[in-house]
Amino acid sequence: MTTLEIRDLQVSVGDTQILNGITLTIKSGEVHAVMGPNGAGKSTLSAAIMGKPGYTITGGQVLLDGKDVLAMATWERAVAGLHLVMQYPTEVPGVKLDDVLSEALKARRGSLPDLTKTIATEAARIGFDTELVHRAINVDFSGGEKKRNETLQLAVLQPRIAIIDELDSGLDIDALRDCAQRVEDATKESDLGVLVITHYSRMFEQLKPDFVHILAKGRIVKSGGPELADDLERNGYTAYASA
Ligand code: ADP
Ligand code: MG
Repeated sequence: MTTLEIRDLQVSVGDTQILNGITLTIKSGEVHAVMGPNGAGKSTLSAAIMGKPGYTITGGQVLLDGKDVLAMATWERAVAGLHLVMQYPTEVPGVKLDDVLSEALKARRGSLPDLTKTIATEAARIGFDTELVHRAINVDFSGGEKKRNETLQLAVLQPRIAIIDELDSGLDIDALRDCAQRVEDATKESDLGVLVITHYSRMFEQLKPDFVHILAKGRIVKSGGPELADDLERNGYTAYASA
């Protein structure tokens, strides 16, 4: 059992305070959805947890099984079991996905003797063309291929906790369904804990949230169960925007 604890996290970019004290606890096997309008601070939350440069932590703590995540380099956070699926996956010219997965696994639990087979199996599960595994990461990939690629990395690396930032932006409905279902499967097969960031509830058909939190203006203004997502779908964020 792994626990990611975010305690009163405050984050600024330059002189602007973006997150004003976020408190959330995510355990193995749980799916927590953080929903909010554009500009609420959702991506800032994911960036701060993974240690993206340019985001200054001005208060609070992030603990993974009691260990201080904020004191770790980004690669150490990944080795410790945190994994970010990026809203806008980065193109990495000259670097192939199979090489990255091989090195990443060596840094974690030792190399996988049957990595090629694992990649092929996982690629088939989400409809990802294995040819793309031998090409430079994300370079000239379509939106759907980029997100399938991100999901493939998650499936092969088997992190403890995944932070998934707007998986639904820039991909078609089939790719979204495949990717969301693969993450849902991981919550059952490998007890993955998930922090899923989105502003639509459409991927919840596959990836079922246990808890839904509404983020507005850098604060969690309401938490509840899946019914909160239905409420947002009907009524929008207006009721929370002024909170
Ligand atoms: P969301 O993902 O909820 O749409 P973001 O976390 O991306 O929101 O952004 C929240 C606010 O922080 C926005 O006003 C955005 O312009 C600002 N912000 C986020 N990252 C940066 C950055 N690197 N530089 C300047 N402003 C930023
Ligand atoms: Mg965002």
